Amino acid sequence: MAKPSAPVQKNQTVSLAFEDLTHEGNGVGKIDGYPLFVPYALPGEEGDVKVVKVKKNFGFGKLLNRRQTSPERVEPPCDVYYKCGGCQLQHMGYDTQLTMKQNQVKNAMKKMAHLDHVPVHPTIGMKDPWRYRNKVQMPVGAKADGELITGFYQKRSHRIIEGMETCMIQDEENDRMVEAVRRIADRLNMTAYHEENDRGVLRHIMVRTGEETNDAMIVLVTRTQTLPHQDELIKELTETFPHVKSIVHNVNDRQTNVIFGKKTEIIWGDGYIYDKIGDITFAISPHSFYQVNPKQTKVLYEKAMEYARIKSTDTVVDAYCGIGTISLFLAQQAKQVYGVEVVSEAVHDAKENAKLNGITNAAFYVGEAEKIMPWWTAQGMRPDVIVVDPPRKGCDEQLLTAMAGMKPDRIVYVSCNPSTLARDLRILEDSGYDVQDVQPVDMFPQTMHVECVSHLTLKDKDV
Ligand code: SAH
Repeated sequence: MAKPSAPVQKNQTVSLAFEDLTHEGNGVGKIDGYPLFVPYALPGEEGDVKVVKVKKNFGFGKLLNRRQTSPERVEPPCDVYYKCGGCQLQHMGYDTQLTMKQNQVKNAMKKMAHLDHVPVHPTIGMKDPWRYRNKVQMPVGAKADGELITGFYQKRSHRIIEGMETCMIQDEENDRMVEAVRRIADRLNMTAYHEENDRGVLRHIMVRTGEETNDAMIVLVTRTQTLPHQDELIKELTETFPHVKSIVHNVNDRQTNVIFGKKTEIIWGDGYIYDKIGDITFAISPHSFYQVNPKQTKVLYEKAMEYARIKSTDTVVDAYCGIGTISLFLAQQAKQVYGVEVVSEAVHDAKENAKLNGITNAAFYVGEAEKIMPWWTAQGMRPDVIVVDPPRKGCDEQLLTAMAGMKPDRIVYVSCNPSTLARDLRILEDSGYDVQDVQPVDMFPQTMHVECVSHLTLKDKDV
C-alpha cells in the first residue's frame, strides 16, 4: 500500500513553529518536512494550528493561538483587516514587509531563473505606507432591508463586509466620495446588483483622483442601460465635491464578477482627469491604466530613467506604454520614442498627453507589442534602449525574441510580478543580455504585491 504523503489530516490540531514566509505573506511551519501555510503567522512564532486543507506536498492551517510572538508583529490599524481580502501584511511591521518583498524577489531570481549572481537591492519603501491609493473600485450590495452598503469583499468570497467605514490604504477623500454616492443612491431608492439572480441596478462605484491636481472622476457601473435619477445624482455629487471633474456611467449587463462592461458614457464633465508626475501632466480616461500609488510611481520611473541612461541621440521603444507615462519621461532626454499599447483609448490619451506637454518626439501605436515589434524590426528600426512594463503575465515570448533581435544596448524591465520577471530575465540572459540588477519598489504597502525595475545590457556589442 502506498504510504500517505501528508503526515497530517484535515481538522487535526498540531503544534507548529514558524520558520519562513510565503510570497503571499503566510507563515510556513513544517511537520516532518511537510510544509503548512498559515495566514497571519510570522517566522519565530509558535502556536497551535488547525489543519484546514491537505494537499500532496503542502497544506493550509488556521492559527488558533500563539505561544511565542515575534517582535516583528504589530497591531493592524484596520478594523476589518482579518476579514478583508484586500491587505495581507498589516500584522507585520513595515520594515519586515520590505525585507519580505526583497526576499521574495531574490527567491524568484534564484529558484526560477538561476540568476543567483544578480543583486536584488533592498525594497524602496514609503515614508508613510498608508492612504496611498488614488483609485478605489468598490462593490455595492444591500442589507436584508434593501439599504445600500459599500465595502470590499470578504476573503475568498463575494460577500461585502458590512460596517466597513474606511480603507486605510485608500485616499481619504475617495473613501468619502464612495460613501456620498452610496448615501445619495440609497436616498434615491436605487437598488444594488445581486450577482446570484442577476437583478438590481448599481454594481460598482469607482473613484480616481489626481494626487497633484486633486481632480476626481466618479464612475458608476450599473446592470441597467440607464442610470436612474442621473440628473439628481450629478447635481448632488458636483455640489458636494467641487473637485469632481468628470462623472461617467458604465453599463455592465453580464452576469460576471468583471467590474466594467463595454458601454461607457460620459454623463458630466470631460471624461478625463489630470494628474502630474514630476513635471509632466497626464490626462487619464476611465479605462486607461494609471499606476495607483503616485508617490512611488515617481520613485519607480526615476529608477527606470536612471537605468535607461538615455542620451540625446537615442531611439527608445516603450512597450506596454499605457497612456505614455514612461514614454514621455524618456522623450525628455531621447531623440525619439516609440510607444506601443493594446488599449486604443490609452494610446489616444498618450498622444494627447504628448501634445499637452509640448512633446513632439514621441509616437504611439495601437497593437499587441509582440506583433508590432517584429514589424518594426522588419522596417529596420534599431532602438538603443527598450523599456517594457507588461501586465502580471509578463512578456510574450515572441516579444522577448523580437526585443533581443533588435539588439538594443540597454533593456529596462518594469514588472509587477517577480515570477514572470524572473522567467523573462532568464530568456533575455540566454539571448545575449546581462541582467545587471533588480530594484524592488513598494508600490503596494500592506499587501503582498511588489513592483520591480530591472536593467540589462547587451553582452557582446559587436556580434
Ligand atoms: N507603462 C505604463 C502601463 C503599464 S501597465 C505605465 O506605467 O503606466 C501594462 C499595460 O500593458 C496596460 O496599459 C495594458 O493595456 C498593456 N498591454 C497588455 N497587453 C499588451 C500587449 N500584448 N501589447 C501591448 N500592450 C499591452
